[in-house]
Formats: sequence, structure tokens, C-alpha cells
Amino acid sequence: MASYQYRKMILMALSAILLATGCQSKYQPIETGAAQTGGGSPQQAAGKNEGSQQGGVVPVSSKGGSAGPLGTAVGTGTGTGPLAGAGTETGAGTEAGTGPLAGAETEAGTGTGTGTGPLAGVGTEAAAGAGTETTAAETTAAAPVFSAADETVYVTGDDVNVRASCSTSSDVVATLKKGASVKRTGYSEEWSRVIYQEQERYIASRYLSAEAPETQAAVQPAAAEGEVRLNSGWQYAEFSKINSGAAMLYRAEGENRKGITVCVNAGHGTSGGSSVKTLCHPDGTQKVTGGSTAAGATTATAVSAGMTFADGTPEPKVTLALALKLKAKLLAAGYDVLMIRESDDVQLDNIARTVIANNAASCHIALHWDSTTNNKGAFYMSVPNNSSYRNMEPVKSHWQQHHALGESLIGGLRGAGVKIFSNGAMEMDLTQTSYSTVPSVDIELGDKASDHSDGTLETLAAGLLAGVNAYFGQ
Ligand SMILES: [Zn+2]
Repeated sequence: MASYQYRKMILMALSAILLATGCQSKYQPIETGAAQTGGGSPQQAAGKNEGSQQGGVVPVSSKGGSAGPLGTAVGTGTGTGPLAGAGTETGAGTEAGTGPLAGAETEAGTGTGTGTGPLAGVGTEAAAGAGTETTAAETTAAAPVFSAADETVYVTGDDVNVRASCSTSSDVVATLKKGASVKRTGYSEEWSRVIYQEQERYIASRYLSAEAPETQAAVQPAAAEGEVRLNSGWQYAEFSKINSGAAMLYRAEGENRKGITVCVNAGHGTSGGSSVKTLCHPDGTQKVTGGSTAAGATTATAVSAGMTFADGTPEPKVTLALALKLKAKLLAAGYDVLMIRESDDVQLDNIARTVIANNAASCHIALHWDSTTNNKGAFYMSVPNNSSYRNMEPVKSHWQQHHALGESLIGGLRGAGVKIFSNGAMEMDLTQTSYSTVPSVDIELGDKASDHSDGTLETLAAGLLAGVNAYFGQ
């Protein structure tokens, strides 16, 4: 991660280059927006002091805030300013909801869920001013000569425009949040050629960096070690129906401690959970895809029982076994770990699990195996490309984070030699995603026919750790 000094040096060097080449006299695409409200907001105080010590972990009475590693970056900004002598440029920043889905360090072209997203709400036009997009003169000279590149780069500004061509007068096809990643295929001083939603697009080079931004990893929920219970004051807590249980927070002890908390959610394992219904969406709207609950439903099973493997092993046993392996690897790597379940039964429904993760973790990874029978491979549940769903909070503000995390995890698994289904993603309207305010993924590690031996689970845990590392730039 770049230190401040290092980044300052880069900036100075960049300024020197710009001055030296005189390109500032040509056009100055300041491809960014006005001030953002980015960075996850601190949460309310959390964590009741719920008594007994367990496993040597000392419960402490409160925890501080947590914030999303990628920042929430809601709302304002992306101004476009009048172009000197070239009319007023409009249209920038209105196309929120699209995003590069390739996560950090994932393979090229793995983005899914393409297509335009919600067109309202985000990226309100702002008048010219600090950080708006201005152009000194719209004399877009000959197309830049690109040197070939093949790398993942990260957006360093807030609401950075993705252009149809190398000109600030060309169409803005999307705006990207700080920390978003894209694949760069060509570089010039002014413009970078990138692949965005499987098309060649252009972003001002100055707002791209090969280094993952600090905001992606520097978030540190100041949670105390011990039990974490659902706090009724937390956002969306009121939608939970089963919440008498507790998750457990473990803090890494080594000098490599990162200050990043990963919520590991062993899917299923809530006794009685299948006879209780909870709202699919916090706003009461209908589910937009099928799945274990049909499309159109407004309520879903609070926690389903899970499937049974071809060899008779119940899914919840295997998700728990993997969760414990992943916990050990994460702690050893310096991550704090929030374990939703460490026994056969935890009385926390999917909403409670999600809300606890929202408030006590930097990301949320739910472990599952699918109910198909053909050993199809691993994939993550991506957010359906449905405009009403992607316009619903908190999905609207977080679905791109979910995808980035999912892509990173799939990349990690692929690197570990795990079989991947299709492009590694399947669209699904899930309770988990519908209530998540931190990067959150339901990952399916295989299906009923997949091997789930100890060795395979080790491999899966190693792949997931690699994915987490990639996501957080570690
Ligand atoms: Zn499952």
C-alpha cells in the first residue's frame, strides 16, 4: 500500500511529466466528481455485553464503528462543468449502477452482471467547481498512441468517468467509485484504454493506479473480541425474527494483524429456521429471481435447512467444517474473524447474520454448496441485473462491492485449482445481499456431487483466503 509519502512522490512526478510535456495546454479532463460522502459511515455503538466467556474470548461491552472497505460513496458529485468554448457538457455521472465487476487481482474479463444500472439518484449533476470536469479547450488532438498494457488498475478519484472515446466531450458511459478496478489494455499520458463491461472504454490516466487504494483495506472496525449479538438499534435489525444467538469475534494476535474483520458465515444451521419467514427485501418488495424462494415472493425462509450431499452428509456440516478451516487461515494471515456459527445450531436468521456482519465486519462471506447434482463447480451469487433491485437500498450502494468481492473469491479459488462454474457468477436475489451494507457474498463451493473431503476443504479455504487477500490488496 502506498504510503502518503510515496503517493506524494508519484503525484509530484506526474505533475512534472505533465508540465514537461505541456499536455495541460491541450485538454484537461479532470475526470472526477465533486465531494463524496464515501467511506462507510461509522455505525452505532454495538454489542451488548452478553456475559459469559467462551473459548477464552473476553466479551467486551461495546464496539466502535465499522466501515465498508470500499467506501459507500453514495450520492453526490460527478459534476460536469461547462466546457470552455465548447458548450456545456452534460450527462456525466448519471449512469450509476454500472461497474467493473472484476475484483482486485481477478482474471481479466470475469465481470458479470453487465448492463446499465439504475439511472437515478447517484451522480447528481453538479455545477462546475472544484473537482468538476472541465476542459480547457476541446481540441482533442489526434487519438493518443497507447502503449500496450495488461493489468488491473484502480480508480483513485471519486466518481470517475468512463468515456466512449478519448475526449471529455465523448459520452460518459459510467462513473466509477474510488477503489473500483478495471483491466487496462492501453496507456497514454492522458488516457487509458480499459475494458469495461466487455467493451473498450477510456478513463483519464491520472485517475487510475496500479496500486489498490488505501481505502480498500484501511478500514478497521474497532470491535472488541467476544460475542457479538444483534443490537436492536442497528439498521434492519427489526426485520430479523431469530436472533437470540451470538456470533463470535476472534482477533488475530500476530504482528501481521491487519485490522480487517472477515465475517465467515457457515450457511444454514439454525434449528427451527425453516419454519419462520422473513421479508426478502427491507422495503417489502418482491423477490426478482427464483431460487429456494420463488420470484415474486415477499417473504422467504428465515434460514433454510440446506441440502444433503450425494453421500448423505448434510450441507450445514460441511459449511461449518470449511468455516473453521477458513477461520484458522484468516487468523494466521492476520485477519480478525467474525464467526457466525461454530456449532450445529446458532439462533441467528439470515437477516441477523447479515446485520451483525454489517456492523462488526469489513466483509461478509457466506459458505454454501448448491443443490444441483453434477459437480458443476464453484460460483458466487451475484446481484441480479434488475433495475428495481439495483435501485433499492442497501443494494444500490453496495452491489458493486459485492461483485468485486465475489470476483476476488472466485479468482482465489481458481488459482487454487478449484473447478469454477461458468464465469463464476450466478444472479440471485438473496436475503443476504438485500440487507448487506458491507461487501457481501454468498459463495457456492460446489454442489451435492462435489467432493468435500478434508483435503478438498483445505484447498477451498486456501483459495478463499487468496481471494480475501486479493480483495483487500494484501
Ligand atoms: Zn446452502
